[in-house]
Amino acid sequence: MNIILIGPPGVGKGTEAKRLASLFHIPHISTGDMFRAMFDEETELAKIAKAHINRGELVPDDLTNKMVKERLLEKDAQQGFLFDGYPRNIVQAKALDEFLNSRGEHMDAILYIDADVDLLSARIAGRRVCKSCGNVYHIQYKKPKVEGICDACHGELYQRKDDMEDTVRRRLHIYHDVTAPIIDYYKDLQAFHAIDGSGNIEETHEKVMNVIV
Ligand SMILES: [Zn+2]
Repeated sequence: MNIILIGPPGVGKGTEAKRLASLFHIPHISTGDMFRAMFDEETELAKIAKAHINRGELVPDDLTNKMVKERLLEKDAQQGFLFDGYPRNIVQAKALDEFLNSRGEHMDAILYIDADVDLLSARIAGRRVCKSCGNVYHIQYKKPKVEGICDACHGELYQRKDDMEDTVRRRLHIYHDVTAPIIDYYKDLQAFHAIDGSGNIEETHEKVMNVIV
């Protein structure tokens, strides 16, 4: 099963990615994790990629594509994969298509989970994080026993700057601008499915399973 998962922050993509990866026995590959793993291995590609990141630059597409190909040749990816955060643009999408074609494979599911910006920003803005241990709570969905206090360590809960409503709205608008060309590239394929992510995690999972099984 070859899956690409696309979705903005707050839509529950991370949770859904983990579930699908474990259901289909495929690796959950995010380029961020992939880069980190490769850095530990000190491969030639990783060294070049690291130099770009250290200079505060994006890793160039051809390098990212090479790292992705290497990742897909690993043993655990022979039954398929789930990409999260890749491809990020058309150049990467085309490289992935070419690689799959060369192996006589194709994408089985391209899942675009999305929800209204108001709903997503409200979800994210409700997050509270413990200053001491980093546990994450939510003022609506995962309330601490005592308001403003961490259940685990009694530390003080606060709202991260990244989670504040204005910041979140800006992030979501940027996300949609950056993602639009990718959606355009995939939207006419049979494997493409737009999933409504406005419900809870269970409901979203059910909708995903309905289109892919
Ligand atoms: Zn804590």
